[in-house]
Amino acid sequence: MNAHLVAIIGGGISGLSTAYELSRLASREKIPLRITLLEAQDRFGGVIRTFDQERFTAEAAADAFYGGGPWGSEAVEFCGSLGLSEELIEASASFRRFYIFKNKKPVPFPQYGRSF
Ligand SMILES: Cc1cc2nc3c(=O)[nH]c(=O)nc-3n(C[C@H](O)[C@H](O)[C@H](O)COP(=O)(O)OP(=O)(O)OC[C@H]3O[C@@H](n4cnc5c(N)ncnc54)[C@H](O)[C@@H]3O)c2cc1C
Repeated sequence: MNAHLVAIIGGGISGLSTAYELSRLASREKIPLRITLLEAQDRFGGVIRTFDQERFTAEAAADAFYGGGPWGSEAVEFCGSLGLSEELIEASASFRRFYIFKNKKPVPFPQYGRSF
């Protein structure tokens, strides 16, 4: 059987996770698939980027995800399937504050469970 051809445009987290999930499903269902991931920049990751500045390690975009509830558990399990469990750092309870910038003011996010 000829392989199905898939083009994914963009190598940010959306494109990378789409490629990962498609490969996983195709492998499970034994569907031949050839995926081409097209990225305009010279690196993958899109807006997500980690860099060192002076004494600090900084994140240019996402540095956290919600680890509680059904979706959060999936995210934690997904990290496990990539062998990243040991690298997750749980947010310190005393610094676990989230705000949404609304009407030019930071508004506290409702409290929820674990976050990484
Ligand atoms: C400051 C900041 C903090 C954030 N914090 C969090 C957080 O704590 N938790 C959280 O869950 N989310 C957070 N987010 C949101 C999260 O980072 C983004 O939603 C997510 O990274 C977007 O990923 P993406 O792949 O959809 O898009 P992008 O990261 O924008 O990736 C798109 C990619 O497509 C490429 N591209 C575009 N057009 C083309 C083309 N025509 N051909 C080829 N390549 C193309 C681009 O070069 C880029 O690499 C934050 C975002 C910001 C900016």
